Amino acid sequence: MSLSGKTAIVTGSNSGIGLGVAHELARAGADVVLNSFTDSDEDHKLAHDLSQEHGVSARYIKADMSKPDECRSLVERAGVCDILVNNAGIQHVAAIDAFPVEKWDAIIAINLSSAFHTTAAALPLMRKAGWGRVINIASAHGLTASPFKSAYVAAKHGIVGLTKVTALETAREPITANAICPGYVLTQLVEAQIPDTMKEYGMERDEVIEKVLLERQPSKEFATVEELGGTAVFLCSDAATQITGTTISVDGGWTAL
Ligand code: NAD
Repeated sequence: MSLSGKTAIVTGSNSGIGLGVAHELARAGADVVLNSFTDSDEDHKLAHDLSQEHGVSARYIKADMSKPDECRSLVERAGVCDILVNNAGIQHVAAIDAFPVEKWDAIIAINLSSAFHTTAAALPLMRKAGWGRVINIASAHGLTASPFKSAYVAAKHGIVGLTKVTALETAREPITANAICPGYVLTQLVEAQIPDTMKEYGMERDEVIEKVLLERQPSKEFATVEELGGTAVFLCSDAATQITGTTISVDGGWTAL
């Protein structure tokens, strides 16, 4: 399938899942806008390299997804948005009664409210273009819970709800809205947790991966950023025209437990 002529904005896409999804959309022919809150040469090089690799147009726009006006101005500055991937996200792990208020506020702002603001700015552009796809990167934690992740689980359940409302409000238009719910994906974020966990449990790397990280993932394998990107490309295909307001789990069986 070809996404040639479509433009995708992927929030939080200078690493991990966002960058992987951007590459798969570009491989399918979409022009891409990468984003994060930094503005380094490296950020702009990611867009340059993506453009070279896939022969599409790509640029990097700095915008802090914790700030409502920057979420909206990201879309406005892009000027066109056929595919919106709300991916930016952070995590903090602590019990509710010890959870820092500023961490709660930041997680709700970046993981949930940003998607409300970007969607509000993108829908008029999709309506003007006569086609649109909203793809929210939720999580297995949008469907299930774990202790010590109150803000993350609340935000991810919230984005699943926002996805459903977006789908209902656009149901009679050529626009769909869905959430992808990944299980564990070995991004830099997860990789960084492995050495400390090895020390904490006195385990080897492989044991930490199988018994701690993938404890709830029956396949005992990580999902990959390419698989998530492929799922996003599928949601942009004609075959997915009637798929709207739902979640697609890419979690090795986690939510079947
Ligand atoms: P990551 O840390 O590699 O990516 C997070 C991205 O968000 C980065 O590009 C970062 O720059 C960006 N970001 C953070 N704060 C931002 C801000 N204020 N403004 C703009 N961008 C900001 O981690 P990842 O694992 O690729 O996570 C991406 C998404 O996938 C998140 O929403 C996360 O919750 C979700 N997810 C990840 C996993 C996993 O196992 N890795 C599982 C389920 C869901």
